[in-house]
Amino acid sequence: MIIVMKAGAAKKDKEEVLKRIRELGYKPHVIHGATRDVIGAVGDERGKLVLHSLESMHGVESVVPILQPYKLASKEVKKESSVIPVSETLSIGGREIVVMAGPCSVESGEQIIETALAVKEAGAQILRGGAFKPRTSPYSFQGLEEEGLKLLARAREVSGLPFVTEVVNPETAELVAEYADILQIGARNAQNFALLKKVGQLKRPVLLKRGMSMTIQEFLMSAEYVMSEGNQSVILCERGIRTFETATRNTLDLSAIPVLKEKTHLPVVADPSHGTGNYHYVAAMAFAAVAAGADGLMIEVHPDPEHASSDGPQSLKPKKFAMMMEKMRLFAEAAGRTL
Ligand code: PEP
Ligand code: MN
Repeated sequence: MIIVMKAGAAKKDKEEVLKRIRELGYKPHVIHGATRDVIGAVGDERGKLVLHSLESMHGVESVVPILQPYKLASKEVKKESSVIPVSETLSIGGREIVVMAGPCSVESGEQIIETALAVKEAGAQILRGGAFKPRTSPYSFQGLEEEGLKLLARAREVSGLPFVTEVVNPETAELVAEYADILQIGARNAQNFALLKKVGQLKRPVLLKRGMSMTIQEFLMSAEYVMSEGNQSVILCERGIRTFETATRNTLDLSAIPVLKEKTHLPVVADPSHGTGNYHYVAAMAFAAVAAGADGLMIEVHPDPEHASSDGPQSLKPKKFAMMMEKMRLFAEAAGRTL
Protein backbone atom coordinates (compact mmCIF):
# COMPACT_ATOMS: atom_id res chain seq x y z
CA MET A 1 0.00 0.00 0.00
CA ILE A 2 1.06 3.58 -0.52
CA ILE A 3 0.30 6.02 2.24
CA VAL A 4 0.26 9.48 0.69
CA MET A 5 0.98 12.14 3.30
CA LYS A 6 -0.53 15.61 2.99
CA ALA A 7 1.80 18.30 1.64
CA GLY A 8 3.37 19.89 4.70
CA ALA A 9 2.29 17.10 7.09
CA ALA A 10 3.98 17.40 10.49
CA LYS A 11 6.96 15.19 11.33
CA LYS A 12 5.08 13.96 14.39
CA ASP A 13 2.17 12.79 12.20
CA LYS A 14 4.55 10.92 9.93
CA GLU A 15 6.18 9.21 12.89
CA GLU A 16 2.80 8.12 14.21
CA VAL A 17 1.97 6.64 10.81
CA LEU A 18 5.30 4.79 10.67
CA LYS A 19 4.66 3.39 14.12
CA ARG A 20 1.16 2.25 13.23
CA ILE A 21 2.41 0.54 10.05
CA ARG A 22 4.91 -1.44 12.12
CA GLU A 23 2.25 -2.34 14.66
CA LEU A 24 0.13 -3.75 11.86
CA GLY A 25 3.05 -5.99 10.87
CA TYR A 26 4.23 -4.09 7.77
CA LYS A 27 7.56 -2.52 6.89
CA PRO A 28 7.42 1.21 6.11
CA HIS A 29 9.70 2.84 3.53
CA VAL A 30 9.60 6.61 3.32
CA ILE A 31 9.99 8.04 -0.17
CA HIS A 32 10.66 11.76 -0.18
CA GLY A 33 8.91 13.61 -2.98
CA ALA A 34 9.26 17.18 -4.16
CA THR A 35 6.10 18.39 -2.39
CA ARG A 36 5.11 15.54 -0.09
CA ASP A 37 6.33 12.26 1.36
CA VAL A 38 4.77 8.95 0.55
CA ILE A 39 5.24 5.86 2.62
CA GLY A 40 5.36 2.45 1.03
CA ALA A 41 4.04 -0.17 3.46
CA VAL A 42 5.19 -3.57 2.31
CA GLY A 43 4.58 -7.01 3.69
CA ASP A 44 2.01 -9.79 3.50
CA GLU A 45 -0.26 -9.01 0.56
CA ARG A 46 -3.17 -10.98 2.00
CA GLY A 47 -3.90 -8.80 5.02
CA LYS A 48 -3.03 -5.46 3.47
CA LEU A 49 -6.57 -4.07 3.66
CA VAL A 50 -6.02 -3.33 7.36
CA LEU A 51 -3.74 -0.54 6.21
CA HIS A 52 -6.81 1.38 5.00
CA SER A 53 -7.42 2.26 8.65
CA LEU A 54 -4.46 4.68 8.37
CA GLU A 55 -6.64 6.94 6.23
CA SER A 56 -8.16 8.45 9.37
CA MET A 57 -4.80 9.41 10.87
CA HIS A 58 -3.53 12.97 11.09
CA GLY A 59 -1.51 14.13 8.11
CA VAL A 60 -2.62 11.27 5.84
CA GLU A 61 -4.19 12.22 2.54
CA SER A 62 -4.94 8.79 1.11
CA VAL A 63 -4.08 5.12 1.20
CA VAL A 64 -3.89 3.43 -2.18
CA PRO A 65 -2.94 -0.09 -3.20
CA ILE A 66 0.18 -0.69 -5.28
CA LEU A 67 -1.05 -2.77 -8.17
CA GLN A 68 2.27 -4.17 -9.39
CA PRO A 69 3.86 -7.12 -7.57
CA TYR A 70 7.05 -5.05 -7.25
CA LYS A 71 6.29 -2.19 -4.90
CA LEU A 72 9.27 -0.02 -3.99
CA ALA A 73 10.70 -0.36 -7.49
CA SER A 74 7.44 0.71 -9.06
CA LYS A 75 6.60 4.09 -10.59
CA GLU A 76 3.36 3.94 -8.61
CA VAL A 77 5.34 4.68 -5.48
CA LYS A 78 7.69 7.25 -6.99
CA LYS A 79 7.00 9.05 -10.24
CA GLU A 80 10.29 10.95 -10.55
CA SER A 81 13.35 9.08 -11.80
CA SER A 82 15.79 8.10 -9.07
CA VAL A 83 19.19 9.69 -9.28
CA ILE A 84 21.71 7.50 -7.45
CA PRO A 85 24.84 9.12 -6.04
CA VAL A 86 28.05 7.18 -6.61
CA SER A 87 30.59 9.71 -5.39
CA GLU A 88 30.55 13.36 -4.38
CA THR A 89 30.62 14.45 -8.00
CA LEU A 90 28.93 11.61 -9.87
CA SER A 91 25.45 10.12 -9.91
CA ILE A 92 23.54 7.73 -12.19
CA GLY A 93 20.06 8.45 -13.48
CA GLY A 94 20.39 12.16 -14.18
CA ARG A 95 20.95 13.87 -17.51
CA GLU A 96 24.50 12.60 -17.88
CA ILE A 97 25.11 9.24 -19.56
CA VAL A 98 27.45 7.35 -17.24
CA VAL A 99 29.93 4.92 -18.78
CA MET A 100 31.51 2.14 -16.73
CA ALA A 101 34.45 0.62 -18.53
CA GLY A 102 37.29 -1.77 -17.85
CA PRO A 103 38.33 -5.37 -18.16
CA CYS A 104 36.12 -8.36 -17.47
CA SER A 105 38.64 -9.54 -14.85
CA VAL A 106 41.35 -7.77 -12.91
CA GLU A 107 44.54 -9.60 -13.89
CA SER A 108 47.42 -7.46 -12.59
CA GLY A 109 48.18 -4.02 -11.21
CA GLU A 110 49.67 -2.94 -14.50
CA GLN A 111 46.64 -4.12 -16.50
CA ILE A 112 44.01 -2.46 -14.31
CA ILE A 113 45.88 0.83 -13.88
CA GLU A 114 46.67 1.11 -17.59
CA THR A 115 43.03 0.42 -18.42
CA ALA A 116 41.70 2.82 -15.78
CA LEU A 117 43.81 5.69 -17.12
CA ALA A 118 42.87 4.90 -20.72
CA VAL A 119 39.11 4.71 -20.13
CA LYS A 120 39.22 7.87 -18.04
CA GLU A 121 41.06 9.68 -20.81
CA ALA A 122 38.34 8.58 -23.23
CA GLY A 123 35.58 9.93 -20.96
CA ALA A 124 34.41 6.97 -18.85
CA GLN A 125 33.29 8.00 -15.36
CA ILE A 126 33.49 4.60 -13.60
CA LEU A 127 36.02 1.76 -13.75
CA ARG A 128 34.77 -1.82 -13.93
CA GLY A 129 36.68 -5.04 -13.23
CA GLY A 130 35.89 -8.43 -11.75
CA ALA A 131 37.84 -9.64 -8.70
CA PHE A 132 35.44 -12.48 -7.83
CA LYS A 133 34.37 -14.09 -11.09
CA PRO A 134 31.27 -16.30 -11.44
CA ARG A 135 32.50 -18.57 -14.23
CA THR A 136 30.34 -21.13 -16.00
CA SER A 137 33.20 -23.63 -15.74
CA PRO A 138 34.92 -24.40 -12.43
CA TYR A 139 38.17 -24.81 -14.44
CA SER A 140 38.11 -21.23 -15.79
CA PHE A 141 39.94 -18.33 -14.09
CA GLN A 142 38.02 -17.49 -10.91
CA GLY A 143 39.49 -14.04 -10.28
CA LEU A 144 42.18 -12.58 -8.01
CA GLU A 145 39.64 -12.17 -5.18
CA GLU A 146 40.78 -9.81 -2.41
CA GLU A 147 44.05 -9.09 -4.20
CA GLY A 148 41.91 -7.94 -7.15
CA LEU A 149 39.93 -5.60 -4.87
CA LYS A 150 43.19 -4.08 -3.63
CA LEU A 151 44.35 -3.52 -7.20
CA LEU A 152 41.03 -1.88 -8.07
CA ALA A 153 41.40 0.42 -5.05
CA ARG A 154 44.90 1.30 -6.24
CA ALA A 155 43.58 2.03 -9.73
CA ARG A 156 40.92 4.28 -8.20
CA GLU A 157 43.62 6.17 -6.31
CA VAL A 158 45.69 6.66 -9.45
CA SER A 159 42.84 7.50 -11.84
CA GLY A 160 40.29 9.11 -9.52
CA LEU A 161 37.57 6.83 -10.96
CA PRO A 162 35.16 5.05 -8.60
CA PHE A 163 34.78 1.36 -9.39
CA VAL A 164 32.11 -1.31 -9.73
CA THR A 165 32.91 -4.96 -9.07
CA GLU A 166 30.93 -8.14 -8.66
CA VAL A 167 29.77 -9.80 -5.44
CA VAL A 168 29.28 -13.53 -5.92
CA ASN A 169 28.10 -14.72 -2.51
CA PRO A 170 26.75 -13.40 0.80
CA GLU A 171 29.91 -14.51 2.66
CA THR A 172 32.21 -12.11 0.78
CA ALA A 173 29.68 -9.28 0.26
CA GLU A 174 30.92 -7.18 3.20
CA LEU A 175 34.52 -7.58 2.13
CA VAL A 176 33.69 -6.35 -1.38
CA ALA A 177 31.65 -3.45 0.06
CA GLU A 178 34.69 -2.29 2.06
CA TYR A 179 36.48 -1.61 -1.21
CA ALA A 180 33.92 -1.03 -3.95
CA ASP A 181 31.85 2.05 -4.83
CA ILE A 182 29.15 -0.05 -6.53
CA LEU A 183 28.31 -3.73 -5.94
CA GLN A 184 27.51 -5.68 -9.09
CA ILE A 185 25.15 -8.64 -9.00
CA GLY A 186 25.81 -10.76 -12.07
CA ALA A 187 23.34 -12.40 -14.40
CA ARG A 188 24.04 -15.83 -12.89
CA ASN A 189 23.13 -14.55 -9.44
CA ALA A 190 20.20 -12.33 -10.38
CA GLN A 191 17.77 -14.62 -8.54
CA ASN A 192 20.08 -15.59 -5.71
CA PHE A 193 17.68 -14.23 -3.13
CA ALA A 194 20.02 -14.69 -0.15
CA LEU A 195 22.63 -12.59 -1.97
CA LEU A 196 20.07 -9.95 -3.00
CA LYS A 197 18.93 -9.61 0.60
CA LYS A 198 22.51 -9.35 1.79
CA VAL A 199 23.42 -6.48 -0.55
CA GLY A 200 20.10 -4.89 0.41
CA GLN A 201 21.51 -4.51 3.92
CA LEU A 202 24.76 -2.88 2.78
CA LYS A 203 25.26 0.81 2.23
CA ARG A 204 26.48 0.74 -1.35
CA PRO A 205 24.62 1.20 -4.64
CA VAL A 206 23.86 -2.09 -6.38
CA LEU A 207 24.19 -2.68 -10.13
CA LEU A 208 21.77 -5.52 -10.77
CA LYS A 209 22.19 -7.40 -14.02
CA ARG A 210 19.27 -9.11 -15.68
CA GLY A 211 19.41 -12.90 -15.50
CA MET A 212 19.72 -14.53 -18.89
CA SER A 213 16.28 -16.09 -18.77
CA MET A 214 14.47 -13.51 -16.68
CA THR A 215 11.33 -11.69 -17.68
CA ILE A 216 11.23 -7.96 -17.02
CA GLN A 217 8.82 -8.58 -14.16
CA GLU A 218 11.17 -11.10 -12.55
CA PHE A 219 14.01 -8.62 -13.00
CA LEU A 220 12.03 -5.98 -11.09
CA MET A 221 11.14 -8.51 -8.39
CA SER A 222 14.88 -9.06 -7.87
CA ALA A 223 15.36 -5.30 -7.51
CA GLU A 224 12.52 -5.40 -4.99
CA TYR A 225 14.44 -7.96 -2.90
CA VAL A 226 17.32 -5.48 -2.54
CA MET A 227 15.04 -2.51 -1.88
CA SER A 228 12.83 -4.27 0.64
CA GLU A 229 15.91 -4.74 2.84
CA GLY A 230 16.39 -0.97 2.94
CA ASN A 231 18.77 -0.27 0.07
CA GLN A 232 16.97 1.93 -2.48
CA SER A 233 20.08 2.53 -4.60
CA VAL A 234 19.57 -0.03 -7.34
CA ILE A 235 20.73 0.41 -10.94
CA LEU A 236 19.29 -2.06 -13.44
CA CYS A 237 21.48 -3.46 -16.21
CA GLU A 238 20.17 -5.08 -19.40
CA ARG A 239 22.95 -7.43 -20.51
CA GLY A 240 21.26 -9.69 -23.03
CA ILE A 241 19.02 -12.70 -22.71
CA ARG A 242 19.08 -16.23 -24.11
CA THR A 243 17.21 -16.67 -27.36
CA PHE A 244 17.44 -19.15 -30.26
CA GLU A 245 19.98 -16.85 -31.96
CA THR A 246 23.58 -18.08 -31.93
CA ALA A 247 25.29 -15.40 -34.04
CA THR A 248 25.65 -13.30 -30.91
CA ARG A 249 26.49 -14.53 -27.37
CA ASN A 250 23.16 -13.20 -26.07
CA THR A 251 20.37 -11.08 -27.52
CA LEU A 252 20.62 -7.57 -26.10
CA ASP A 253 16.99 -6.79 -25.33
CA LEU A 254 16.89 -3.11 -26.15
CA SER A 255 13.12 -3.05 -25.85
CA ALA A 256 13.58 -3.76 -22.15
CA ILE A 257 14.98 -0.24 -21.76
CA PRO A 258 11.80 1.76 -22.58
CA VAL A 259 9.68 -0.88 -20.83
CA LEU A 260 11.73 -0.56 -17.63
CA LYS A 261 11.70 3.22 -17.91
CA GLU A 262 7.93 3.10 -17.95
CA LYS A 263 7.59 0.69 -15.03
CA THR A 264 10.28 1.82 -12.62
CA HIS A 265 11.94 4.97 -11.34
CA LEU A 266 15.30 3.17 -11.11
CA PRO A 267 18.10 4.02 -13.56
CA VAL A 268 18.69 1.58 -16.42
CA VAL A 269 22.04 0.89 -18.05
CA ALA A 270 22.98 -1.46 -20.90
CA ASP A 271 25.91 -3.82 -21.32
CA PRO A 272 26.49 -4.41 -25.04
CA SER A 273 29.71 -6.36 -24.35
CA HIS A 274 27.98 -9.34 -22.73
CA GLY A 275 24.91 -8.54 -24.84
CA THR A 276 26.74 -9.35 -28.08
CA GLY A 277 29.88 -11.24 -27.06
CA ASN A 278 31.78 -9.74 -29.99
CA TYR A 279 33.73 -6.47 -29.95
CA HIS A 280 32.67 -5.74 -33.54
CA TYR A 281 29.08 -5.17 -32.47
CA VAL A 282 29.63 -3.32 -29.21
CA ALA A 283 29.67 0.27 -30.46
CA ALA A 284 26.52 -0.10 -32.59
CA MET A 285 24.56 -1.55 -29.68
CA ALA A 286 25.93 1.05 -27.27
CA PHE A 287 24.64 3.85 -29.52
CA ALA A 288 21.30 2.06 -29.89
CA ALA A 289 20.99 1.69 -26.10
CA VAL A 290 21.51 5.43 -25.62
CA ALA A 291 18.89 6.08 -28.30
CA ALA A 292 16.51 3.72 -26.46
CA GLY A 293 16.84 5.77 -23.27
CA ALA A 294 19.62 4.07 -21.28
CA ASP A 295 21.09 6.14 -18.44
CA GLY A 296 24.48 4.54 -18.84
CA LEU A 297 26.59 1.79 -20.33
CA MET A 298 28.90 -0.93 -19.15
CA ILE A 299 31.67 -1.72 -21.64
CA GLU A 300 34.51 -4.23 -21.41
CA VAL A 301 37.89 -2.76 -22.34
CA HIS A 302 41.21 -4.60 -22.23
CA PRO A 303 44.67 -3.44 -23.33
CA ASP A 304 45.46 -6.90 -24.75
CA PRO A 305 42.17 -8.74 -25.44
CA GLU A 306 43.90 -11.65 -27.21
CA HIS A 307 45.50 -12.62 -23.89
CA ALA A 308 42.63 -11.71 -21.55
CA SER A 309 41.79 -14.21 -18.79
CA SER A 310 38.08 -13.82 -19.58
CA ASP A 311 35.84 -12.30 -22.25
CA GLY A 312 38.64 -11.22 -24.59
CA PRO A 313 36.53 -11.61 -27.77
CA GLN A 314 34.04 -8.99 -26.59
CA SER A 315 36.58 -6.53 -25.16
CA LEU A 316 37.48 -3.33 -26.94
CA LYS A 317 41.06 -2.11 -27.06
CA PRO A 318 41.45 1.33 -25.46
CA LYS A 319 41.85 3.03 -28.85
CA LYS A 320 38.60 1.55 -30.21
CA PHE A 321 36.86 2.48 -26.96
CA ALA A 322 38.04 6.09 -27.32
CA MET A 323 36.70 6.20 -30.89
CA MET A 324 33.37 4.84 -29.71
CA MET A 325 33.16 7.45 -26.95
CA GLU A 326 33.83 10.27 -29.42
CA LYS A 327 30.92 9.15 -31.57
CA MET A 328 28.78 8.51 -28.51
CA ARG A 329 28.74 12.22 -27.72
CA LEU A 330 26.63 12.80 -30.83
CA PHE A 331 24.14 10.10 -29.86
CA ALA A 332 23.99 11.40 -26.29
CA GLU A 333 23.26 14.89 -27.56
CA ALA A 334 20.56 13.62 -29.93
CA ALA A 335 18.95 11.85 -26.98
CA GLY A 336 18.97 15.10 -24.99
CA ARG A 337 21.73 13.87 -22.69
CA THR A 338 25.30 14.76 -21.91
CA LEU A 339 28.29 12.48 -21.70
C1 PEP B 1 30.71 -9.43 -16.09
O1 PEP B 1 30.25 -8.27 -15.96
O2 PEP B 1 31.89 -9.66 -16.37
C2 PEP B 1 29.75 -10.55 -16.03
C3 PEP B 1 30.12 -11.75 -15.59
O3 PEP B 1 28.55 -10.23 -16.51
P1 PEP B 1 27.17 -11.06 -16.55
O4 PEP B 1 26.85 -11.37 -15.13
O5 PEP B 1 26.22 -10.11 -17.20
O6 PEP B 1 27.42 -12.28 -17.39
MN1 MN C 1 32.78 -10.32 -18.56
